[in-house]
Amino acid sequence: MRHILSLLVLLLVFSCKSSGNKESKTSEVTSSEVKDLVAYLAADDRMGRNTGTSGIDVSATLIENQMKSYGVKPYFGDSYRDQFKVKELDAFNVVGFIEGSDEALKDEVILLGAHYDHIGKGKVVDGDSIANGANDNAAGTSAVMAIAKYFAANKSNKRSIIVALFTAEEMGLLGSKHLAERLKQDDVNLYTMLNFEMIGVPFKDRDYEAFVTGYELSNMADKINEYVGNKLIGYSEVAKKYSLFKRSDNYPFYQQFNLPCQTISSCDLTNFDFYHHVDDEIDKLDYEFMANLINKTIPAIEKMSRTATREIKMYEE
Ligand SMILES: [Zn+2]
Repeated sequence: MRHILSLLVLLLVFSCKSSGNKESKTSEVTSSEVKDLVAYLAADDRMGRNTGTSGIDVSATLIENQMKSYGVKPYFGDSYRDQFKVKELDAFNVVGFIEGSDEALKDEVILLGAHYDHIGKGKVVDGDSIANGANDNAAGTSAVMAIAKYFAANKSNKRSIIVALFTAEEMGLLGSKHLAERLKQDDVNLYTMLNFEMIGVPFKDRDYEAFVTGYELSNMADKINEYVGNKLIGYSEVAKKYSLFKRSDNYPFYQQFNLPCQTISSCDLTNFDFYHHVDDEIDKLDYEFMANLINKTIPAIEKMSRTATREIKMYEE
């Protein structure tokens, strides 16, 4: 079964590539490109991407090189790295910029984020101690990079887009706290922030594909569904119960800006047994699902970046 499937994937990839040349728009995100980045970040050689290690340093370098090759500009002068210290450790977010095409709207910013760090080592199982963090959160990183590639190529965003891959999330959202404070100090005109976490496995029991944390705080879910024309985003009771809104990198941005800053995810821990487990490995993810979800999310972000007014809003408190 696996061989037949991979043959089909190969055929699909080739047909996309050959038709892609004629189109003006860059062809859709493929499962193989999504998997390639996850496979690099979650390889045993990266040693679980803990902040301050060589495993995360080379991961950041790969992300920077990819941004450069896509035509995503460094956000801070000539460096993609937003440096800070975690005690004595060197830490760095990787931050890129895709300028909006509309003279008036490009001053407004949509921030797309995901943490690319992980916890390093986990509880040893069958002699394996490396917490690879494929779903958490090589998956989200891979999504943000694929979306960045799309907008850098198509230049269809009227508002500007900041692409941020956060470090030290696993140490207490330290990377996103640092960047949120920095952007607030710089008076960045943020519109909204969408953060990607654990999008590597599908739900089997829902009438939606992903949820947003803080569902009840804003019209984010409704607007995304309206923009894509179907129920892509729903409500997760588990996410609410465990306050997942406060447990990822969207939260420091919400605290600084009091704007819709939310995490999109397809995993509320009911559908994945390997959270912070050494078996959160490359082969546990469903790359067709991921590519599909990314391809469905891109038009929502595109629309978000092009509306004449800011349609996504917090509900009154
Ligand atoms: Zn995570």
